Amino acid sequence: MEKMQFQAESKRLLEMMVNSIYSQKEVFLRELISNASDAIDKIYYKALTDENLTFYKDSYYIKVIPNKEDRTLTIRDTGIGMTKEELENNLGVIAKSGSLAFKSENEIKDGFDIIGQFGVGFYAAFMVADTVTVITKSLNSDVAYKWTSEGADGYTIEPWTKEDVGTEVILTIKDNAEEENYDDYLETYRLQSIIKKYSDFIRYPIKMDTVKSTLKEGTEDEYEDETIEETINSMVPIWKKNKSELTEEDYESFYHEKRYGFDQPLKSIHINVDGTIRYNAILYIPETVPFDYYSKEFEKGLELYSSGVLIMDKCSDLLPDHFGFVKGLVDSEDLSLNISREMLQQDRQLKLIAKNISKKIKSELQSLLKNDREKYEKFYQSFGRQLKFGVYNDFGANKEALQDLLMFFSSKEKKLVTLDEYIARMPEDQKYIYYATGATNERISRLPQTELVADKGYEILYFTDDVDEFAIKMLMTYKEKEFKSVSSADLGIEEDEQDDNEENNQQYADLFEKMKQLLEGKVKDVRLSKRLRTHPVCLTADGEVTIEMEKVLSMMPDNQNVQAEKVLEINPNHEVMNALQQAFSQDQEKLALYTNLLYHQALLIEGLPIEDPVEFTNNICKVMI
Ligand code: ADP
Ligand code: MG
Repeated sequence: MEKMQFQAESKRLLEMMVNSIYSQKEVFLRELISNASDAIDKIYYKALTDENLTFYKDSYYIKVIPNKEDRTLTIRDTGIGMTKEELENNLGVIAKSGSLAFKSENEIKDGFDIIGQFGVGFYAAFMVADTVTVITKSLNSDVAYKWTSEGADGYTIEPWTKEDVGTEVILTIKDNAEEENYDDYLETYRLQSIIKKYSDFIRYPIKMDTVKSTLKEGTEDEYEDETIEETINSMVPIWKKNKSELTEEDYESFYHEKRYGFDQPLKSIHINVDGTIRYNAILYIPETVPFDYYSKEFEKGLELYSSGVLIMDKCSDLLPDHFGFVKGLVDSEDLSLNISREMLQQDRQLKLIAKNISKKIKSELQSLLKNDREKYEKFYQSFGRQLKFGVYNDFGANKEALQDLLMFFSSKEKKLVTLDEYIARMPEDQKYIYYATGATNERISRLPQTELVADKGYEILYFTDDVDEFAIKMLMTYKEKEFKSVSSADLGIEEDEQDDNEENNQQYADLFEKMKQLLEGKVKDVRLSKRLRTHPVCLTADGEVTIEMEKVLSMMPDNQNVQAEKVLEINPNHEVMNALQQAFSQDQEKLALYTNLLYHQALLIEGLPIEDPVEFTNNICKVMI
C-alpha cells in the first residue's frame, strides 16, 4: 500500500496546529463530535432534497466508545460518510473543509448550522492520539474505506468493510506523559464531562455506554452490573428556543445549571438578533456581588458558542469592564470554531456583537430603573460601584453611556436618587448640583459644611464611596449643571451678607494672619465662613483636590502624597470668635492654644487623623485648668 504524503504546507501546519491553536487538549473531542454532527446534518439535508431518502431522526446519533484494553477511543456517527476522494481531499489536505464546500455547493444559507468551515479541527485528534484511523462508508459509495495516519508522516487509504453508511474515527490514545494524563481520555466520567462542557447542545444524541450497579432481581442485597446506553448531551439549547416558550423559571434553572451563581438572577435577558450580525444570547444580571468581584482575581466574560459548540469559557472581549458583572452566553453561527484568542480579538463580527450586547444591557438597566425601582436599587447596591468606576475609567470614555444609571443618596429624599431626578427638583436660583463626602450618610448629614446649602433648601447628594468624587470629577457636568462640593471655597450661593463679609474679613485680617502663622503651613488660609450656621469651624479646600480625595489618594499603594489646599473656616457668629479676638489682643499663648484646638476639631470632623493625639488631649486639659 502506498503511503500518501500530506501536502508540504499541511505538514508544517499540522505540527503547528497540534501544539498551538488549542490551549487545552480536551477540545479534540469537541472537534470530532462537531464533525460527526455536521456529517449527520448533511445526510439530513440530502434526505430533504432527495425523495428516495428518508431521515428517521432516531437512527441518527453519535456514539463515543472508550476501550481501555486496546487503548482506543472511537467516535462513531451515522452521518453521510466519505468517499475515497473525499477522504483524500478533506483529510489529506489540511485547511480544506469539506463542510464549507458542502455549504456552498448546496447553497445552504440560514437555518442549517453546519459547524465546520476551517478544515483543521480533525487534526486536533493528534493532540491525544499516536494513530488516527477513519473507517467510513459514504452514502454515495458501495465500498467502505479505511484511512490511517500516524501524524505528520502521511496517511494510507485502503478499501475496507463496513455495513452501514457513516464514519468511525478511532484514536489510539498516547501513553501517559508528564505533561498530560492521557489515560483520562479513556475514562467514561471524564469523557462525559468533556461532552457536557463543549457539546451539550449538539442537535443529535451523543451516546455512551455506562455501567450501572443495580439490585439483582429477587434479592435484597445482591447487585449486578448492567450496561446502559445513555444520551449525554441535552441537545436543544435554550437560547435557540422561542422566548414565548420559556418561563422565568426556565431561565433561572438554566442560570443554576450553568453555575453562573448561587444566587437568583435579578434579571434575565434573551437576545435573538438576525440581521447583518446573527447571534443568540442569554444574559443575566446577578443579584449579589461575587465575593471576588472587586478584586484582581475576578475574570469577566461570557461563554462563547459557535452553532451550539463551546469555543470559549470566558470571552472577555464580549463585555466592557463596566458591565463585567453580567453572566451568560453568546452563540453565533458566523464565528469559526477553530479560532484562537488572539484572532478572536480582531474579529469584526465579535466586535459588533459586543457593541450590540453592551447597548442591550444598558437599555435593560434603564428599563429596570424606570419600571422596577426596587429591583434596580438592589442591583445598584451590588454593582453601582462598578458603574461609577466605569464613568471614571478610560478617561471617562463611557461616561455619557453610564451617567443616567448612577444613583446617590439624597439629603432630602433620604434614599437613592438619580441625577435626572435631582435636576428636575432644583429650585430656579440653584446653580449647582451639591454633594458632600464622608464615611456614612449619617456622618455626612451632620457635617458643618452642609449647613448653608441645606439652609437654602437645596438638596445634597451624599458620597460615601471612594470612587464617587472621582467619578463626578470625570463627569464634570450633568445636563449642563456643574457639580459642587459643599466644602469648596466658593459655594456659588448669593448671600445678602456677602458685602459685609468682605468688611468683616478685613476686620479679622490680622487675627487670621496670626492664626495661619501659628498653624505653620498646615493650612493655606484661615477665613471667615459663609457656610457655617451653628458650628464654630470647618475645613474646606481651595483648588481641585478636595479633602476627601486627599484621603482616598493617601490610601493608594502608590501614594503620591497629594494634598488638598486646606482652609480653616471660622464662623463669625459663633462665640468662639469673641474668645479668639480677646486672646488675640490680650494673651498670645491662649490664642495659640485656641487655634490649635479649633484646627484639630476641624480635622476630627473631617475624619482626618490627628498628628499627635497626646498633645491634643493635653491641650484640652489646659483649657480646663
Ligand atoms: P471543518 O470541520 O472545519 O471542515 P475538519 O478538519 O474538522 O474541518 O474536517 C475536515 C473535513 O473532513 C470536514 O469538512 C468534512 O468534510 C470531513 N469530515 C471530517 N469528519 C467527518 C465525519 N465524521 N464524517 C464525514 N465527513 C467528515
Ligand atoms: Mg470540524
